[in-house]
Amino acid sequence: MTSPPILTFLETFIYMVWLKSIKSKIMVFAIIATLIPSLGLGLLSFRQNEVQISDNVTRELRTLTSDASREIELWIDKRAHEVRVTSTSSAVIDGLSAIARPQANIRANAATKNPQALAHYLRSIQTKLDTLLELTVVDAGGQIVASSAATAAAAAITLPNDWPPHSLTEGLVIVPPHWDEQYATATLSIAVPVLSYDNLLMGALVAVLDLRMLQPHLKDTAKSPPGEVLLLDRDGRILVGSQTDSKKLKQLDVSVLRRLEEQPGISLVFRGMTHPEVIGLADVSANLPVTIVAERDRAEVYGAWVDLRDMFLALVGALVIVVAAVAFQMGRSIVGPLQRLIGAADRIASGDLEVRLAATRNDELGHLTQVFNQMADKLRHSHAEIMAANQAMQQQNQVLETLSITDSLTGLYNRSKLDAILSDELARFNRTQREFTLLMMDIDYFKTLNDTYGHITGDEILAAVARILVQSIRSIDYAARYGGDEFIIILVETSADQALNTAERIRSQVENMRYRANDSIIAVTVSIGVVQCQSADITPTAVFARADSALYEAKHAGRNRAFCVS
Ligand code: GH3
Ligand code: MG
Repeated sequence: MTSPPILTFLETFIYMVWLKSIKSKIMVFAIIATLIPSLGLGLLSFRQNEVQISDNVTRELRTLTSDASREIELWIDKRAHEVRVTSTSSAVIDGLSAIARPQANIRANAATKNPQALAHYLRSIQTKLDTLLELTVVDAGGQIVASSAATAAAAAITLPNDWPPHSLTEGLVIVPPHWDEQYATATLSIAVPVLSYDNLLMGALVAVLDLRMLQPHLKDTAKSPPGEVLLLDRDGRILVGSQTDSKKLKQLDVSVLRRLEEQPGISLVFRGMTHPEVIGLADVSANLPVTIVAERDRAEVYGAWVDLRDMFLALVGALVIVVAAVAFQMGRSIVGPLQRLIGAADRIASGDLEVRLAATRNDELGHLTQVFNQMADKLRHSHAEIMAANQAMQQQNQVLETLSITDSLTGLYNRSKLDAILSDELARFNRTQREFTLLMMDIDYFKTLNDTYGHITGDEILAAVARILVQSIRSIDYAARYGGDEFIIILVETSADQALNTAERIRSQVENMRYRANDSIIAVTVSIGVVQCQSADITPTAVFARADSALYEAKHAGRNRAFCVS
């Protein structure tokens, strides 16, 4: 399965930017190590507390609803008792008997026969009992005989044909609690049978009760444990509440009511009638078609818990910030010296060996810095040694190179160098047509000089002649020992005439040298063959051959002279 592009990007970003550096790794580890245990344990304990609070509240709400249910039952019983007492009064029995059973009326007098008098009696009772809104006497067929109210609400009441046995002594709820528009309050109607003195059912005394009078009882119930107890009809309309005026209360959402009724005793969180969000549960009354709902403001119940949780989260947040700052500082104290070491290593890699780092720390990084400095010192030292060795080798190479092209006796160029010079000059001539001349010189009767004055003196004469040659030519010209007592001079950009002059000058200087050895003055002369380069001279050998011919001519002509061939 491929991850979405945004996730891939995030992963890459985190890896590249964060986890690439040691500092980031330390920070991430520290934050995770702080967050997971503290948040995990903290939230677990808060969750347990939440469950405990919820259980406690549910228990309290259950107590509230069961207390309220009992209070309502007691209250209705009490009212039924009051009505029953009235129903057994002689005024009611005689009045009803006189009207409903005139033929059986023995004790009736003018007053009791009059329905107005009975109504008057009923009104006097109603005035004494403030829970009563209306008292009505009906006959066995349900017809109103007399009522305390001008317009009796009990007119709509249909009495049961067969009274349940217990209701003959206790009374019967015949109109369940509901909102009564006539009295602008929630009412409950109960009927108590009116029996004749010989226990015959003559009719009933119907009382319309004002449920507002139930509120103080519910209020007492809701004091401990705290909460709001509400009596709702089947549509969720509030009939009476323990603390709030029912007129101001809204209707509970029917779907919420159904959910509450489906699970009586189980608490739910919903939009309540007293607060925007409440915890509440319901108890469906066994005797009345009403629902008793107990609810508590969720914000109040969880107020302290939420404050504590928020404080805990703030503390964890602060802890994470502190840990992150410490981890960042720790990471920096590790990465900083490492980066300096990397920078120094880079400089060494690029050839800068003059690197030295300050090792101020006593920990592993300080030790690493010291070792790095020692390594850099050794590198510097080795580099200096290599450079010195290299320089010495270069000098030796130069000496060797000089020796390889120099004639050791005279200090002039040797034969192999001469060949190279002549090849170059020939090439240059062919390329630029700039002429040069070559002088081949040989000492006259040198064999005799050797024989007469010794080989060492002969060597000294060779060196002395060489010195004359060097002094007689320009810096751009070349002088070389060709072999034995023969020398070659190459005069660059020189014509044959000019070369002949130079040859003559050399010959004359050698002749005038007057070399002294063992009190003898030795006369030395040379013969010189002069040739100018030609287009036909393809190889050095060709030039040497012509120069040799010129020299031969000079020797043959009597020696101690220069001869030029074209
Ligand atoms: P010529 O006038 O015809 O040149 O007569 P020459 O005696 O000089 O004869 P040649 O040039 O043939 O003789 C050269 C001699 O140079 C022969 C050899 O003994 C001598 N010689 C060669 N190399 C050296 C050297 O390095 N030192 C000394 N002292 N003598 C050398
Ligand atoms: Mg010679």
